Amino acid sequence: MAEFGQAFTSQMVVSSFENDQWSTADVKPIGPFSFHPATHVLHYSSTCFEGLKAYRWVDGSIHLFRHHDNISRLRASAASLCLPVPPAELIEEAIINAVKAVTDEIPDLPGALYIRPTLIGTELNIGAAGRGSKNALLYVITSPVGDYFSGGVRPLKLLIDDENMRSTPKFGQVKTGGNYAASLGSVTSARAEYQADQVLFCPGGQVQETGAANFMILRGNDLITKKLDGSILPGITRNSILKLGADMGYQVHEIDFTVDELLNWLPDSEAFLSGTAAVLSPVGSVVYQGVGHTVGNGEVGERSMQLKQALTSIQHGKQEDRWHWTSLIA
Ligand SMILES: *Cc1c(COP(=O)(O)O)cnc(C)c1O
Repeated sequence: MAEFGQAFTSQMVVSSFENDQWSTADVKPIGPFSFHPATHVLHYSSTCFEGLKAYRWVDGSIHLFRHHDNISRLRASAASLCLPVPPAELIEEAIINAVKAVTDEIPDLPGALYIRPTLIGTELNIGAAGRGSKNALLYVITSPVGDYFSGGVRPLKLLIDDENMRSTPKFGQVKTGGNYAASLGSVTSARAEYQADQVLFCPGGQVQETGAANFMILRGNDLITKKLDGSILPGITRNSILKLGADMGYQVHEIDFTVDELLNWLPDSEAFLSGTAAVLSPVGSVVYQGVGHTVGNGEVGERSMQLKQALTSIQHGKQEDRWHWTSLIA
């Protein structure tokens, strides 16, 4: 299977907002769009997106995981970017149509169909730097993905960056292109200089998250992660893991903590990243100010893997879904 995000299914769904009206969420063969060079998004980054997955369970049925949460988050992102906010029902229809159009292209477990709803500003106006786009395009593309961990789970190395920000104190909660652009420089040099897999952004010494995943610590009976304050993405995987962790008897702490505290905790902790794409990715070491620090014994944490298992067994229909997170769609 191709690398994550580089294979696409044959169909997509498109709906446009023009003259104050959304068109129906129609299925089309996947293919290029053509845009006028003055299109708002190309100049002023009026773009936001979502990432969620559909799974084919062993009985052949197709299920979405917590898609209502992705829909709410896309609407919140759209509002932050002053874009037309698509009705929740339209986004849901677009997602479901996109999945149903490609059911025979969904890989078996542990693979999944990664779904990428995207909203962009399409008004033709290079004078609208200080104004939201009047027009918009909502589209949903899908990508068959394998188990992110095929070939074995490898503990990641994170570079702790306490100088750069991946976003701003309030815009960090928006799933918008600009935030990823802002973090590229830091991530690129972390790879080149330290062979780091990701950067853990800790502006002013306060631990936040990585470029595209939330960060968590398991230490004794404590499950620790940064509290939601607008500066980090409110991950749906993060929320699911906190609920499952509490259920498994962990004390959940959504708190602010510093790099110094983190470094003190690491020797007797497990650490991992959480997100839809990587599910739960163990962290084996961090680099701070040129010095490496091992997390626990540096190996994949056993208790982290238990949490991952608790989550994937619900996503895969192998465990009772007591929170009603999964939705049968086909
Ligand atoms: C998408 C994303 C996450 C993870 O969110 P999920 O809803 O769990 O997929 C975390 N951080 C950032 C910056 C993200 O873009």
